Amino acid sequence: MGMNGPMKKLPFFLPFGGCRGRCVYCSQAVITGVDEIPSPEHVSSVLRELDGPREVCFFGGSFCRFGRSAIKEYLDSVVNNAPEGSRIRFSTYPGDLSDRSVRDLIRKYPIACIELGIPSLDPAVLSLCKRDADPGIILADIKTIMDESLPLGVQIMIGLPGQTMESSLSDIRKLAESKGPLSWDLRIYPCLVIEGTELESMMREGRYSPLKLDQAIEWGGAVLGSALSLGFNPIRIGLQESELLTSKVRGGPHHPALGEMIASEALVRKLIKNSRTGPWVVPYEHLSKFTGHGCFGLRRLAEFAGSTADIVSDKLSFFPPVSTKII
Ligand code: SF4
Repeated sequence: MGMNGPMKKLPFFLPFGGCRGRCVYCSQAVITGVDEIPSPEHVSSVLRELDGPREVCFFGGSFCRFGRSAIKEYLDSVVNNAPEGSRIRFSTYPGDLSDRSVRDLIRKYPIACIELGIPSLDPAVLSLCKRDADPGIILADIKTIMDESLPLGVQIMIGLPGQTMESSLSDIRKLAESKGPLSWDLRIYPCLVIEGTELESMMREGRYSPLKLDQAIEWGGAVLGSALSLGFNPIRIGLQESELLTSKVRGGPHHPALGEMIASEALVRKLIKNSRTGPWVVPYEHLSKFTGHGCFGLRRLAEFAGSTADIVSDKLSFFPPVSTKII
Protein backbone atom coordinates (compact mmCIF):
# COMPACT_ATOMS: atom_id res chain seq x y z
CA MET A 1 0.00 0.00 0.00
CA GLY A 2 1.49 3.30 -1.03
CA MET A 3 1.00 6.77 0.40
CA ASN A 4 -2.10 7.25 -1.71
CA GLY A 5 -3.75 4.00 -0.72
CA PRO A 6 -3.82 0.79 -2.70
CA MET A 7 -3.29 1.00 -6.43
CA LYS A 8 -6.21 -0.15 -8.60
CA LYS A 9 -5.91 -3.83 -9.39
CA LEU A 10 -6.29 -5.27 -12.87
CA PRO A 11 -6.65 -9.05 -12.70
CA PHE A 12 -5.84 -11.48 -15.48
CA PHE A 13 -6.99 -15.03 -14.86
CA LEU A 14 -4.83 -17.86 -16.10
CA PRO A 15 -7.14 -20.80 -15.31
CA PHE A 16 -5.11 -23.77 -14.07
CA GLY A 17 -2.00 -22.18 -15.60
CA GLY A 18 0.97 -24.10 -14.26
CA CYS A 19 -1.13 -26.45 -12.09
CA ARG A 20 0.35 -29.94 -11.90
CA GLY A 21 -2.64 -31.62 -10.33
CA ARG A 22 -6.20 -30.76 -9.45
CA CYS A 23 -6.94 -29.78 -5.90
CA VAL A 24 -10.26 -31.41 -5.02
CA TYR A 25 -12.20 -28.18 -4.53
CA CYS A 26 -10.86 -26.27 -7.50
CA SER A 27 -12.74 -25.24 -10.62
CA GLN A 28 -10.93 -22.29 -12.11
CA ALA A 29 -13.35 -21.89 -15.02
CA VAL A 30 -16.20 -21.32 -12.55
CA ILE A 31 -14.24 -19.26 -10.04
CA THR A 32 -12.69 -16.95 -12.61
CA GLY A 33 -15.30 -17.09 -15.37
CA VAL A 34 -12.44 -17.63 -17.83
CA ASP A 35 -11.93 -20.80 -19.90
CA GLU A 36 -8.69 -20.03 -21.66
CA ILE A 37 -5.35 -18.68 -20.58
CA PRO A 38 -4.84 -15.22 -22.13
CA SER A 39 -1.59 -15.00 -24.06
CA PRO A 40 1.12 -12.50 -23.09
CA GLU A 41 0.24 -10.70 -26.36
CA HIS A 42 -3.36 -10.34 -25.26
CA VAL A 43 -2.25 -9.10 -21.83
CA SER A 44 0.03 -6.57 -23.55
CA SER A 45 -2.77 -5.27 -25.76
CA VAL A 46 -5.01 -4.69 -22.73
CA LEU A 47 -2.23 -3.00 -20.78
CA ARG A 48 -1.42 -0.62 -23.64
CA GLU A 49 -4.92 0.86 -23.37
CA LEU A 50 -4.65 1.79 -19.68
CA ASP A 51 -4.90 5.41 -18.58
CA GLY A 52 -2.77 5.09 -15.45
CA PRO A 53 -0.67 2.68 -13.41
CA ARG A 54 -2.28 -0.50 -12.10
CA GLU A 55 -1.40 -3.41 -9.96
CA VAL A 56 -1.48 -6.04 -12.68
CA CYS A 57 -2.51 -9.38 -11.19
CA PHE A 58 -2.08 -12.91 -12.48
CA PHE A 59 -4.46 -15.20 -10.66
CA GLY A 60 -6.18 -18.52 -11.18
CA GLY A 61 -3.29 -20.91 -11.40
CA SER A 62 0.22 -21.33 -10.14
CA PHE A 63 2.21 -18.57 -11.78
CA CYS A 64 5.67 -19.83 -10.90
CA ARG A 65 4.94 -23.28 -12.37
CA PHE A 66 4.61 -21.90 -15.87
CA GLY A 67 8.27 -22.30 -16.62
CA ARG A 68 10.77 -19.49 -16.75
CA SER A 69 10.21 -18.38 -20.32
CA ALA A 70 6.42 -18.08 -19.92
CA ILE A 71 6.82 -16.28 -16.59
CA LYS A 72 9.22 -13.86 -18.24
CA GLU A 73 6.83 -13.19 -21.13
CA TYR A 74 3.98 -12.27 -18.78
CA LEU A 75 6.20 -10.11 -16.58
CA ASP A 76 7.72 -8.40 -19.62
CA SER A 77 4.24 -7.72 -20.96
CA VAL A 78 3.65 -5.60 -17.86
CA VAL A 79 6.88 -3.64 -17.78
CA ASN A 80 6.84 -3.05 -21.53
CA ASN A 81 3.19 -2.06 -21.90
CA ALA A 82 1.53 -0.95 -18.66
CA PRO A 83 1.81 2.72 -17.67
CA GLU A 84 4.86 3.62 -15.63
CA GLY A 85 4.53 2.94 -11.95
CA SER A 86 2.46 -0.22 -12.51
CA ARG A 87 3.28 -3.17 -10.33
CA ILE A 88 2.71 -6.91 -10.42
CA ARG A 89 0.90 -9.33 -8.13
CA PHE A 90 0.48 -13.04 -8.71
CA SER A 91 -0.66 -16.16 -6.90
CA THR A 92 1.46 -19.26 -6.85
CA TYR A 93 1.81 -22.71 -5.32
CA PRO A 94 4.15 -23.10 -2.36
CA GLY A 95 7.45 -24.72 -3.18
CA ASP A 96 7.84 -23.20 -6.63
CA LEU A 97 9.95 -20.36 -5.36
CA SER A 98 12.52 -22.73 -3.92
CA ASP A 99 14.02 -22.58 -7.42
CA ARG A 100 16.61 -19.82 -7.24
CA SER A 101 16.51 -19.11 -10.96
CA VAL A 102 12.78 -18.32 -10.70
CA ARG A 103 13.38 -15.97 -7.78
CA ASP A 104 16.27 -14.27 -9.56
CA LEU A 105 14.02 -13.72 -12.56
CA ILE A 106 11.10 -12.34 -10.56
CA ARG A 107 13.22 -10.00 -8.50
CA LYS A 108 14.00 -7.93 -11.60
CA TYR A 109 10.37 -6.81 -11.86
CA PRO A 110 8.29 -4.40 -9.76
CA ILE A 111 6.55 -7.01 -7.63
CA ALA A 112 3.81 -5.70 -5.32
CA CYS A 113 2.97 -9.07 -3.81
CA ILE A 114 3.49 -12.79 -4.23
CA GLU A 115 0.37 -14.49 -2.91
CA LEU A 116 1.06 -18.01 -1.74
CA GLY A 117 -1.88 -20.42 -1.91
CA ILE A 118 -1.36 -22.18 1.40
CA PRO A 119 -4.44 -23.14 1.98
CA SER A 120 -3.77 -25.15 5.18
CA LEU A 121 -0.66 -26.14 7.11
CA ASP A 122 -2.18 -29.42 8.29
CA PRO A 123 -0.67 -32.38 6.37
CA ALA A 124 -3.85 -34.45 6.66
CA VAL A 125 -5.96 -31.63 5.23
CA LEU A 126 -3.50 -30.98 2.41
CA SER A 127 -3.44 -34.63 1.49
CA LEU A 128 -7.27 -34.92 1.47
CA CYS A 129 -7.30 -31.89 -0.83
CA LYS A 130 -4.79 -33.66 -3.12
CA ARG A 131 -2.15 -31.02 -2.57
CA ASP A 132 1.54 -31.47 -1.75
CA ALA A 133 1.15 -32.53 1.85
CA ASP A 134 4.33 -31.27 3.46
CA PRO A 135 3.73 -28.02 5.33
CA GLY A 136 7.49 -27.87 5.90
CA ILE A 137 7.87 -27.02 2.22
CA ILE A 138 5.37 -24.17 2.57
CA LEU A 139 7.14 -22.72 5.60
CA ALA A 140 10.57 -23.15 3.97
CA ASP A 141 9.31 -21.35 0.87
CA ILE A 142 8.04 -18.51 3.02
CA LYS A 143 11.38 -18.23 4.74
CA THR A 144 13.30 -18.19 1.47
CA ILE A 145 11.05 -15.51 0.02
CA MET A 146 11.34 -13.40 3.17
CA ASP A 147 15.10 -13.81 3.40
CA GLU A 148 15.27 -12.26 -0.04
CA SER A 149 12.83 -9.47 0.88
CA LEU A 150 10.27 -10.34 -1.77
CA PRO A 151 6.80 -9.11 -0.72
CA LEU A 152 4.48 -11.89 0.43
CA GLY A 153 0.78 -12.45 1.00
CA VAL A 154 -1.10 -15.61 1.89
CA GLN A 155 -4.34 -17.26 0.86
CA ILE A 156 -5.94 -19.67 3.27
CA MET A 157 -9.16 -21.67 3.19
CA ILE A 158 -11.61 -22.78 5.86
CA GLY A 159 -13.97 -25.73 5.89
CA LEU A 160 -11.67 -28.01 3.89
CA PRO A 161 -11.91 -31.81 4.19
CA GLY A 162 -10.47 -32.90 7.53
CA GLN A 163 -9.94 -29.31 8.68
CA THR A 164 -11.11 -27.88 12.00
CA MET A 165 -11.36 -24.36 13.36
CA GLU A 166 -8.51 -25.19 15.75
CA SER A 167 -6.26 -26.23 12.88
CA SER A 168 -7.05 -22.97 11.05
CA LEU A 169 -6.26 -20.92 14.13
CA SER A 170 -3.02 -22.81 14.56
CA ASP A 171 -2.17 -22.13 10.88
CA ILE A 172 -2.70 -18.41 11.42
CA ARG A 173 -0.42 -18.42 14.45
CA LYS A 174 2.30 -20.30 12.55
CA LEU A 175 2.04 -17.90 9.64
CA ALA A 176 2.18 -14.97 12.07
CA GLU A 177 5.39 -16.37 13.55
CA SER A 178 6.85 -16.52 10.06
CA LYS A 179 5.85 -13.02 9.10
CA GLY A 180 7.04 -11.32 12.30
CA PRO A 181 6.11 -7.64 12.38
CA LEU A 182 5.28 -7.42 8.66
CA SER A 183 1.69 -6.85 7.56
CA TRP A 184 0.93 -9.53 4.99
CA ASP A 185 -2.06 -9.37 2.70
CA LEU A 186 -4.43 -12.20 3.59
CA ARG A 187 -7.29 -13.79 1.70
CA ILE A 188 -9.65 -16.15 3.45
CA TYR A 189 -11.75 -18.44 1.28
CA PRO A 190 -14.48 -20.54 2.85
CA CYS A 191 -14.57 -23.78 0.86
CA LEU A 192 -17.47 -24.14 -1.57
CA VAL A 193 -18.46 -27.29 -3.40
CA ILE A 194 -18.44 -26.48 -7.10
CA GLU A 195 -20.07 -28.62 -9.76
CA GLY A 196 -17.76 -31.08 -11.44
CA THR A 197 -15.04 -31.05 -8.80
CA GLU A 198 -13.83 -34.08 -6.90
CA LEU A 199 -15.15 -32.41 -3.77
CA GLU A 200 -18.64 -32.70 -5.22
CA SER A 201 -18.22 -36.50 -5.49
CA MET A 202 -16.79 -36.60 -1.99
CA MET A 203 -19.84 -34.75 -0.73
CA ARG A 204 -22.27 -36.98 -2.63
CA GLU A 205 -20.53 -40.09 -1.27
CA GLY A 206 -20.70 -38.76 2.27
CA ARG A 207 -16.93 -38.32 2.55
CA TYR A 208 -17.15 -34.54 2.94
CA SER A 209 -19.63 -32.34 4.76
CA PRO A 210 -19.51 -28.74 3.64
CA LEU A 211 -19.76 -25.96 6.19
CA LYS A 212 -23.16 -24.50 6.87
CA LEU A 213 -23.45 -20.72 6.65
CA ASP A 214 -23.46 -20.14 10.43
CA GLN A 215 -20.47 -22.46 10.90
CA ALA A 216 -18.53 -20.60 8.22
CA ILE A 217 -19.31 -17.28 9.86
CA GLU A 218 -18.14 -18.46 13.28
CA TRP A 219 -15.02 -20.15 11.94
CA GLY A 220 -14.22 -17.29 9.60
CA GLY A 221 -14.87 -14.72 12.32
CA ALA A 222 -12.52 -16.48 14.72
CA VAL A 223 -9.79 -16.77 12.09
CA LEU A 224 -10.21 -13.21 10.86
CA GLY A 225 -10.17 -11.84 14.41
CA SER A 226 -7.00 -13.73 15.19
CA ALA A 227 -5.42 -12.62 11.91
CA LEU A 228 -6.22 -8.96 12.59
CA SER A 229 -4.80 -9.11 16.08
CA LEU A 230 -1.65 -10.73 14.69
CA GLY A 231 -1.16 -7.94 12.18
CA PHE A 232 -2.38 -9.42 8.89
CA ASN A 233 -4.03 -7.20 6.31
CA PRO A 234 -7.20 -8.98 5.13
CA ILE A 235 -7.87 -8.00 1.53
CA ARG A 236 -10.61 -10.50 0.65
CA ILE A 237 -12.96 -12.89 2.38
CA GLY A 238 -14.84 -15.30 0.12
CA LEU A 239 -14.84 -15.80 -3.61
CA GLN A 240 -15.88 -13.05 -5.98
CA GLU A 241 -19.61 -13.36 -6.59
CA SER A 242 -20.83 -14.02 -10.10
CA GLU A 243 -23.89 -15.51 -11.75
CA LEU A 244 -21.75 -18.36 -12.98
CA LEU A 245 -20.50 -19.15 -9.47
CA THR A 246 -24.05 -18.99 -8.11
CA SER A 247 -25.26 -21.40 -10.77
CA LYS A 248 -22.47 -23.91 -10.10
CA VAL A 249 -22.28 -24.05 -6.32
CA ARG A 250 -23.55 -27.41 -5.10
CA GLY A 251 -22.78 -27.05 -1.42
CA GLY A 252 -21.08 -24.97 1.21
CA PRO A 253 -21.55 -21.50 2.69
CA HIS A 254 -22.47 -19.55 -0.41
CA HIS A 255 -23.94 -16.15 0.44
CA PRO A 256 -23.36 -12.76 -1.21
CA ALA A 257 -22.69 -11.11 2.17
CA LEU A 258 -20.56 -13.89 3.66
CA GLY A 259 -17.46 -11.73 3.87
CA GLU A 260 -19.31 -8.90 5.57
CA MET A 261 -20.91 -11.23 8.08
CA ILE A 262 -17.53 -12.79 8.88
CA ALA A 263 -16.13 -9.28 9.43
CA SER A 264 -19.05 -8.51 11.79
CA GLU A 265 -18.46 -11.76 13.64
CA ALA A 266 -14.76 -10.98 14.10
CA LEU A 267 -15.54 -7.54 15.51
CA VAL A 268 -18.24 -8.84 17.84
CA ARG A 269 -15.91 -11.55 19.15
CA LYS A 270 -13.30 -8.89 19.87
CA LEU A 271 -15.78 -6.72 21.78
CA ILE A 272 -16.98 -9.69 23.81
CA LYS A 273 -13.40 -10.65 24.59
CA ASN A 274 -12.78 -7.16 25.93
CA SER A 275 -16.03 -7.01 27.87
CA ARG A 276 -18.69 -9.69 28.00
CA THR A 277 -21.49 -7.33 29.01
CA GLY A 278 -20.41 -3.95 27.62
CA PRO A 279 -20.58 -1.03 27.33
CA TRP A 280 -18.73 -1.08 24.03
CA VAL A 281 -17.34 1.87 22.09
CA VAL A 282 -16.34 1.37 18.47
CA PRO A 283 -15.23 3.61 15.60
CA TYR A 284 -18.13 4.91 13.51
CA GLU A 285 -16.74 3.23 10.39
CA HIS A 286 -17.89 -0.09 11.90
CA LEU A 287 -21.56 0.95 12.17
CA SER A 288 -22.66 -1.21 9.23
CA LYS A 289 -21.08 -4.26 10.85
CA PHE A 290 -23.92 -4.04 13.39
CA THR A 291 -26.73 -2.76 11.21
CA GLY A 292 -26.13 -4.68 7.97
CA HIS A 293 -27.88 -7.90 6.96
CA GLY A 294 -30.80 -7.67 9.32
CA CYS A 295 -28.66 -6.28 12.15
CA PHE A 296 -26.55 -9.44 12.00
CA GLY A 297 -23.72 -8.02 14.14
CA LEU A 298 -26.07 -6.67 16.77
CA ARG A 299 -27.86 -10.00 17.01
CA ARG A 300 -24.54 -11.83 17.38
CA LEU A 301 -23.44 -9.35 20.05
CA ALA A 302 -26.70 -10.05 21.90
CA GLU A 303 -26.18 -13.82 21.60
CA PHE A 304 -22.63 -13.67 22.94
CA ALA A 305 -23.66 -11.30 25.74
CA GLY A 306 -26.65 -13.48 26.63
CA SER A 307 -28.92 -10.50 26.16
CA THR A 308 -31.30 -8.95 23.65
CA ALA A 309 -30.49 -6.85 20.60
CA ASP A 310 -32.33 -3.94 22.18
CA ILE A 311 -30.30 -4.02 25.38
CA VAL A 312 -26.91 -4.44 23.70
CA SER A 313 -27.79 -1.65 21.30
CA ASP A 314 -28.10 0.70 24.28
CA LYS A 315 -24.66 -0.33 25.48
CA LEU A 316 -23.05 0.19 22.11
CA SER A 317 -21.77 3.61 21.14
CA PHE A 318 -19.70 4.99 18.30
CA PHE A 319 -17.16 7.71 17.90
CA PRO A 320 -17.94 10.06 16.37
CA PRO A 321 -21.38 9.39 17.86
CA VAL A 322 -24.47 8.48 15.81
CA SER A 323 -27.48 10.65 16.56
CA THR A 324 -30.19 7.99 16.37
CA LYS A 325 -30.58 4.64 18.04
CA ILE A 326 -29.34 1.98 15.68
CA ILE A 327 -32.36 -0.29 16.15
S1 SF4 B 1 -6.14 -24.59 -6.15
FE1 SF4 B 1 -4.47 -23.66 -7.31
S2 SF4 B 1 -2.99 -25.30 -7.62
FE2 SF4 B 1 -4.95 -26.28 -7.04
S3 SF4 B 1 -5.92 -26.80 -8.98
FE3 SF4 B 1 -6.68 -24.77 -8.33
S4 SF4 B 1 -5.36 -23.26 -9.33
FE4 SF4 B 1 -4.32 -25.26 -9.43
